[in-house]
Amino acid sequence: MSAWETVIGLEIHVQLATKTKIFSAASTAFGAEPNSHASLVDLALPGTLPVLNREAVNMAVKFGLAVGAEINRRSVFERKNYFYPDLPKGYQTTQLAEPIVGTGSMEVVLDDGSRKTVRIHHAHLEEDAGKSLHEDFHGMTGIDLNRAGTPLIEVVTEPDMRSAEEAVAFARALHSLVTAIGVCDGDMSQGSLRFDVNVSVRRKGEEKLGTRTETKNLNSFRFMEMAIRKEVERQIDILEDGGSITQETRLFNGDTGVSRAMRSKEDANDYRYFPCPDLLPVMLSEEQIIELKNSLPELPAQRLVRFVEQFGLSDYDARILSSDLATSDYFEAVVKLSGDAKLAANWIMGELAAKLNAEEKAIAACPVSAEHLAELIARLKDNTISSKIAKQVFEGCWNGEGSPDQIIEARGLKQVSDSGALQKMVDQIIADNAAQAEAYRAADEGKRKKMFGFFVGQAMKASQGKANPQQLNELLQKALEG
Ligand code: ADP
Ligand code: MG
Repeated sequence: MSAWETVIGLEIHVQLATKTKIFSAASTAFGAEPNSHASLVDLALPGTLPVLNREAVNMAVKFGLAVGAEINRRSVFERKNYFYPDLPKGYQTTQLAEPIVGTGSMEVVLDDGSRKTVRIHHAHLEEDAGKSLHEDFHGMTGIDLNRAGTPLIEVVTEPDMRSAEEAVAFARALHSLVTAIGVCDGDMSQGSLRFDVNVSVRRKGEEKLGTRTETKNLNSFRFMEMAIRKEVERQIDILEDGGSITQETRLFNGDTGVSRAMRSKEDANDYRYFPCPDLLPVMLSEEQIIELKNSLPELPAQRLVRFVEQFGLSDYDARILSSDLATSDYFEAVVKLSGDAKLAANWIMGELAAKLNAEEKAIAACPVSAEHLAELIARLKDNTISSKIAKQVFEGCWNGEGSPDQIIEARGLKQVSDSGALQKMVDQIIADNAAQAEAYRAADEGKRKKMFGFFVGQAMKASQGKANPQQLNELLQKALEG
């Protein structure tokens, strides 16, 4: 056991799924020609003024309501002043002293089923910066302002997490929450959700928090976990060698697994924050908040509880199937069509998840429709096919060969349940293996069990896996003990 305890707090940038930017009418669509989605406001031309996007405010409030946070009836935009080529205004418009979302919390279910509450310090609205493109131009840097002014909320947690697993579990829960309530598209490869991890260590039993470092802009759960583990090791090594930790901002390269110091930590003072004179305080009415509250869909945590109660799923299964909206919708569609929650859960978390993983596909792009999976389950339940054959049929569906019924028909996979045909087969097998049958009859109960498998194997081989297993067992038993 380590003598050290890890302490982690997260700052998460969540890109809001508005159509247009937070202070201009330019589109937020990803992947456009550089600078084609940059309006005069985003370019910071003199004389232009920001106009606040109501939808961005609504989404921030929805997030706050979903984490049970205080919603501040009044919040204020401030200017955070710094120079960077992709920030033509010379300041980022953000919130500091009066953010829109106050303290809240999220409960996270960990892998072992235990629950962990992470407090949310606050969440504020702000705009994203542009992008500097260093690779595309020889000896020059390109500036793309398409992303400038994209609305974000920055969610800041208390330092409540105690391991990389807890931090990742929280990050996943946050991802499923913001996508479920529709305030973020959740596409991490496009930077829609970016995590800054603050990490410190302290000796077990110590009250005082250790000095922390902040690793910025992690855009995958895997990188986040790697970065935390590395940083914890690095800090413990330094402290055990009698050194001390420098409070600094670090960068982690996921491809090489190496992190390096970027700059020493700056203070809020360094940025000369002041309230933005171009924007009025954001005032929210009671009715607005109630209306937004009523518009919230079922939250992942509520869905998890419902899946346990309504479908009798285990906590573990319910957590996986409720974790993202597309998966839970797919699951519910299959249950509705097949009437069997247990089989639906098994197939989605088993065969289907394995295929999706192997081909790095999202469930939204799954080639097996909910209708087809439900049909497959129905054929299993009415004994048209065995579970072994069902896997073949599933493969066929995945490869676009048609519906389960079509595939079963075309490939002649129907289970043999005709007792006459099965009886004939059993008789033949016993005649062909007379010595083994003799030995079986002479053996005791314990040995018989093992020997029985041999006959089942022969029968399955003879029927190409299509013999109805239950019927086959009965007929074999009768014939052997006969
Ligand atoms: P600052 O204002 O200097 O950025 P904050 O108090 O806002 O610092 O904290 C920023 C983030 O760092 C929060 O997520 C917080 O939980 C986390 N944090 C603060 N102190 C520590 C610490 N000693 N160890 C780990 N995380 C910390
Ligand atoms: Mg901070």
